[in-house]
Amino acid sequence: MRLFTAALATETNTFSPICIDRRAFEASLYAPPGEHPPTPTLCTAPITVGRKVAVEKGWELVEGTAAWADPGGLINRETYEGLRDEILGQLKAAMPVDGVVLGLHGAMVASGYDDPEGDLLARIREIIGTDVLLCAELDPHSHLTAKRVGLADFFVAFKEFPHTDFVERAEDLWRIAVDALEGRAKPAMSVFDCRMIDVFPTSREPMRTFVDRLKAIEASDPDVLSLSVIHGFMAGDVPEMGTKIICVTDDRAEKGERLARELGMELFDKRGSFLMPQVDESQAVEEALGTAGGPVVIADMWDNPGGGTAGDATIILAELLERGVRDAAVGTIWDPIAVQICMAAGEGAEIPLRFGAKSALGTGNPIDGHVEIVRLVRDAEMRFGESFAPFGDAAHIRLDGVDVILNTTRAQSFDPSLFEVMGIDPRAQKILVIKSTNHFYSSFSKIASKIIYCAAGTPYPNNPAKTAYRKARRDIWPMIQDPHGQETVSA
Ligand SMILES: [Zn+2]
Repeated sequence: MRLFTAALATETNTFSPICIDRRAFEASLYAPPGEHPPTPTLCTAPITVGRKVAVEKGWELVEGTAAWADPGGLINRETYEGLRDEILGQLKAAMPVDGVVLGLHGAMVASGYDDPEGDLLARIREIIGTDVLLCAELDPHSHLTAKRVGLADFFVAFKEFPHTDFVERAEDLWRIAVDALEGRAKPAMSVFDCRMIDVFPTSREPMRTFVDRLKAIEASDPDVLSLSVIHGFMAGDVPEMGTKIICVTDDRAEKGERLARELGMELFDKRGSFLMPQVDESQAVEEALGTAGGPVVIADMWDNPGGGTAGDATIILAELLERGVRDAAVGTIWDPIAVQICMAAGEGAEIPLRFGAKSALGTGNPIDGHVEIVRLVRDAEMRFGESFAPFGDAAHIRLDGVDVILNTTRAQSFDPSLFEVMGIDPRAQKILVIKSTNHFYSSFSKIASKIIYCAAGTPYPNNPAKTAYRKARRDIWPMIQDPHGQETVSA
């Protein structure tokens, strides 16, 4: 057997001003054929898992380009077309192949393309024809368009959010592909449209139990090859945005449709109950000040660069300053201009500085003050699980008793070590303000006396009922209350 694999992925927040060009891919991950490192990045696990499968089976694996950009705004048209054509050219040169196994994200939007993945899959089909196996791993924060469903044999999405299982799901993808290629299975993909959009952390109920149930069904029913929930991505203003269920069966499409519908309606019935309770900036600071003991973590949960925002909102910091709070630290506020000024001034300098809230609406106002430059670090990194996440050149400044970290590479606050590398002891603070929706939890919960989820301003379109979509469909919850009509009556 001869297989082709490649990866092209990013998550496009169409409301974000941080547009994505080729340099953004090169800064995150750009690997020409054969040069992908041994460890995968989120959407490139089909390549590293594919290498193992090829060795085990004695098959030939032809590697194409792997490209991943950290989430941001619209992709530059030339950039998308260039990366796409690079992969298509590699596939043409590799023909004939028995299958194509891709690492996609599924929420890309490029200038001129609402459905780049659909476009890529269509062009791949033109090259390989209708009989060659075509499958891909997806991030659940994606858009499952009818076009994609019609073109691929099957998709497998990560089940966990935070996405801790991207390697395991790539293994599922390859296992099903191998069974199909060796004639042991005939994957049939059934999809149910839940007609809703929501956010579904799997670290808490009710989604934890739901995902465990999907796994139990997969383990016990030999007809069911894979179950995925496409959460959907509410920051992507595209026509087919929304939550969907994928059921891949072994040639039992009707059974798959029934199961996908049953699971999808179960999810729909729990709409609005998945997210953690949130408070505004005033309540968050009030609650933190009223909590006894160690650091209280306030997560500025919607200004999360991991969701494509700039990460430069100042609303919670402004609240701290207004109340005269001391022993608080904010990590981080993205501001390359301010960092450049601090670098020029040097450690120990005291200067007038304007910083933050420069890039997007709904993120507060720039902060003006006479600041002390405490510490400067070039190419700063924080821990992230077993590896490290860069946050660029960084400046630790102090303003009215509040320590603030300014940085040049947008990064969500994964780990308390981001404060330590800047000379701030996170345990000695009363309040830590961080920028992350969910991924921070496992590391920060170890030092926090309390965690408060704060929805401050509108850096991210987190309320679909109010978001000014131009393209997204409006026939889903919460834009309308009863999108399934009669079907919900029995529930
Ligand atoms: Zn995701």
